[in-house]
Amino acid sequence: MECITVLGATGSVGVSTLDVLARHPERYQVYALTANTSWQQLAIQVRKHQPRYAVLSDIGAAELLRQELAGSNCTTHVLAGEQALVEVAGAADVDTVMAAIVGGAGLLPTFAAVEAGKKVLLANKEVLVMAGGLFMAEARRSGAQILPIDSEHNAIFQCLPLQKGLAAGCNLAELGVRKILLTASGGPFRDTPLAELAGVTPAQACAHPNWDMGQKISVDSASMMNKGLELIEACWLFNCSPDDIEVLIHPQSVIHSMVEYVDGSVLAQLGNPDMRTPIAHALGWPERVASGVPALDMVAAARLDFSAPDYHRFPCLSLAQQAASLGQTAPAALNAANEVAVAAFLRGELAFTEIAEVNKRVLLAAELTEPVDLSVVQIADAKAREHARRLIAAAFT
Ligand code: NDP
Ligand code: MG
Repeated sequence: MECITVLGATGSVGVSTLDVLARHPERYQVYALTANTSWQQLAIQVRKHQPRYAVLSDIGAAELLRQELAGSNCTTHVLAGEQALVEVAGAADVDTVMAAIVGGAGLLPTFAAVEAGKKVLLANKEVLVMAGGLFMAEARRSGAQILPIDSEHNAIFQCLPLQKGLAAGCNLAELGVRKILLTASGGPFRDTPLAELAGVTPAQACAHPNWDMGQKISVDSASMMNKGLELIEACWLFNCSPDDIEVLIHPQSVIHSMVEYVDGSVLAQLGNPDMRTPIAHALGWPERVASGVPALDMVAAARLDFSAPDYHRFPCLSLAQQAASLGQTAPAALNAANEVAVAAFLRGELAFTEIAEVNKRVLLAAELTEPVDLSVVQIADAKAREHARRLIAAAFT
């Protein structure tokens, strides 16, 4: 039995993960499920999956879960706080960790899983953007196998001949790769008149045409900051530079990304836009396991369109390219500013187009240092968040 911790179990990726796990009870056993505050949803998941531990970051929510489970025949121990997340991610009995917390909050528990040499299914892209160099170096040291869950990166991984996975390192030139084609749907505002973008609401931004996801990544998809974060994520996972990657708009989200080789071959991974496919791929790897995703109907899909991204419409994409080229703590600063700006947009305190403005100002003002350890990254993150909050409070309210 493979013993699994699901960090961020109550989120969009967490729920899809539990759906796949439940299809293979003979293969997987849940060790721990975690959330931030959603204790009621976690209680339902705990009753169904009977993990050894349930962790809530929020201490009050953990107490409510404890009371809810008291008196039932459930033997799950309820823990609270960030240190408990770190413990269930690195525990000796755990084989595999699904890292599906959203944002920088996932940094320490995800790093703990890598440090402990686990098989790490990585959905939490923000942590690679913040500290990708440290993650990949630590994985090489500990022997942790990092398997990409982000659908594009999972597709690229599937199109590369990496029998030993990413733990052995990736050298695109040696593999005969000319470039990576990172596809993007363009989100809900791909064709919205530019003059209307300032007035779009959080509900409109979260209504993605193809994918059903958490709020933060949905807003990032609408601004294409998501593709920018994915560009940086790909540079770390596949050991390449932004120049090796071409971003391509593909509105149907049927092709999840492609790899072009020196002989002119282009390999693509296709499938319905359902995260259970990359999750099942990474869970089963190097074997294949059923995911519950219906077969792709090519006749119904009928058309596959492609176009170049419009950088004027999506300034966040250029900012991410700029941060990737600047290196050092620039991506961490950009990511932190974006998390603060997106949260403010979702609360109705910032216009959609001001997200890019906050991100740009924070990135340009950030003092860059070499991220030699996690504390350097955490300091850069905290400073950028503080700067973004000041900008939002002063100029945009
Ligand atoms: P959701 O917002 O749906 O879920 C986030 C999860 O993280 C929830 O379980 C939430 O708990 C938990 N969480 C949030 N904040 C904290 C915190 N401070 N401490 C501990 N736990 C916390 O996000 P998604 O599932 O959409 O995304 C998760 C990650 O996967 C993101 O990094 C995203 O970019 C990436 N990803 C997601 C895809 C998708 O299809 N959704 C596709 C590709 C990548 P609670 O419920 O209590 O708030
Ligand atoms: Mg993606």
